[in-house]
Amino acid sequence: MLIKDLKNSEEFIAGDDTILRVLLHPDKACLNMRILLLLILLFSGLSLYGQEKQVCFTFDDLPVVSYGKNDTCYQKNLTDKLVQSLKENRIPAIGFVNERKLYDNGKRNPFQVNMLKSWLDNGLEIGNHTYSHPDYNSVSFEKYSADILKGEVITKELLANNGRTIKYFRHPFLHVGNTKAKADSLNTFLLEHAYTVAPVTIDNDDYLFALAYKRAQDKKEVQMMQQIGLDYIDYMEQKLKYYERQSNALFGRHIPQILLLHANLLNSDYIALLAEMFWRNNYEFVSLDRVLEDKAYESAITVYGNWGISWIDKWALSRGEKGVFFKDEPATPEYIKKLSE
Ligand SMILES: [Zn+2]
Repeated sequence: MLIKDLKNSEEFIAGDDTILRVLLHPDKACLNMRILLLLILLFSGLSLYGQEKQVCFTFDDLPVVSYGKNDTCYQKNLTDKLVQSLKENRIPAIGFVNERKLYDNGKRNPFQVNMLKSWLDNGLEIGNHTYSHPDYNSVSFEKYSADILKGEVITKELLANNGRTIKYFRHPFLHVGNTKAKADSLNTFLLEHAYTVAPVTIDNDDYLFALAYKRAQDKKEVQMMQQIGLDYIDYMEQKLKYYERQSNALFGRHIPQILLLHANLLNSDYIALLAEMFWRNNYEFVSLDRVLEDKAYESAITVYGNWGISWIDKWALSRGEKGVFFKDEPATPEYIKKLSE
């Protein structure tokens, strides 16, 4: 049995008690199983006492990021595979919707709405990411807030059909307001409309890898697609370790992380491997509700700029951290930048 299969099995999910029971069992018939489990634990670096760290996977730009590919079969396969992989790996993810994508010439597009519905049907969460993805650095508060309200109509309906209400808002480009006045206006508006902000701590360039991956697919370059996929996982592991170092430097511990991803083909194809990478690094997958229970998320943000950056970086800047704190951030490989130009 592969380590991956074992991790996905009911026994493993049942918790470390099961592993301990088998390891400590007096029956000689269990000997082989005990040796196998010990070897797996030794070589996989897994803790006997469970996953020590938490992460929430979040996906922006729902229902789908297809880079202009309007083929409904392609979009449906991408969505089905993404949603199924999340379900199989028991990842309680949340997706953030741009409702403009749910309309065609002012009319609702049932195909797009159904793709969104499949997130809820599979036990996942959805939230508001504005109607048309405006940049808050370049539009007024009035325009921006109107776009938020325009972007909640169908999402609210779908949630209501499941007996749920809308809760989370994610800022496009992670632009929260480039002045205190603008940020304050928006925060007050979100509070008045019962929205909770969905921060991001593990910011990354998944969208550049995804565009390169899609272009390689267009050219039927299977080997290049594989290289991009594996380099993507490697890059994400470096990013994870970078933000773990930042978390330790700022809070003296591993805070629960929030990973930013997009609903694209690359993530649809690689979510299982990405999940395995997080698992290998002792992470368990948790909901946004659970992550936000952590006190770290009450940290103050007192600096404003045009940036769209990790909340960890905002907290660090607010505490007066300078250049050296932010050194060694992993870079996107040059070939990915070239392919995604
Ligand atoms: Zn977005």
